[in-house]
Amino acid sequence: MGRYIGPACRLCRREGVKLFLKGDRCFSPKCAVEKRAYPPGQHGQGRKKVSPYALRLREKQKLRKIYGILETQFSNYMGKAERMDGMTGENLLGLLERRLDNVIFRIGLASSRNQARQLVLHGHFMVNQKKINIPSFTVRPGDKILIRDSSRDKVLLKSHLESASSKHIPSWIQMDVSKGEAQVVSLPKRDEIDVSVKENLVVEFYSR
Ligand code: SF4
Repeated sequence: MGRYIGPACRLCRREGVKLFLKGDRCFSPKCAVEKRAYPPGQHGQGRKKVSPYALRLREKQKLRKIYGILETQFSNYMGKAERMDGMTGENLLGLLERRLDNVIFRIGLASSRNQARQLVLHGHFMVNQKKINIPSFTVRPGDKILIRDSSRDKVLLKSHLESASSKHIPSWIQMDVSKGEAQVVSLPKRDEIDVSVKENLVVEFYSR
């Protein structure tokens, strides 16, 4: 699956909120949303009126960009969420949250989902003792994720692992920092998913 390779800050400015796509820079005064809080482009500071359709579209785009997914794959997730039992919006968030690249980001082994995606692609992790280099791999309760022995000395991973204990790790994942190992203990619930998106608007967008 492809991915967006243009400027990340432009995506945040388009949505008018911080999507935290660039790790530490997002928490610094260099953040583009703080410096230029209006959409990019010639008409960025122009039209302000938002139609109900645009509202739903923007919410869908926001969610898609947060997880770094292109349109087709995102609508595939939507289709899967609709076929599952329960609330479609929560199912969708749950599926996105259980992506391996997101889990690596959540447990503090990468500073952004983009970086986590790169680390997964480069084969630094195993799930249940098997090397997995697919960022969209969906983890399930009981799955164990660990850093491969050959990757433990990588400077980037080492420094993230050292600071992982100070990070907030969601309660559906248990992290053993000393072993560099994490276990998925349950499915993520809505209140455990730290993403400020109105998922009902995303569902409404697709049911039009
Ligand atoms: Fe978005 Fe981060 Fe860029 Fe700020 S620094 S605009 S939060 S990607």
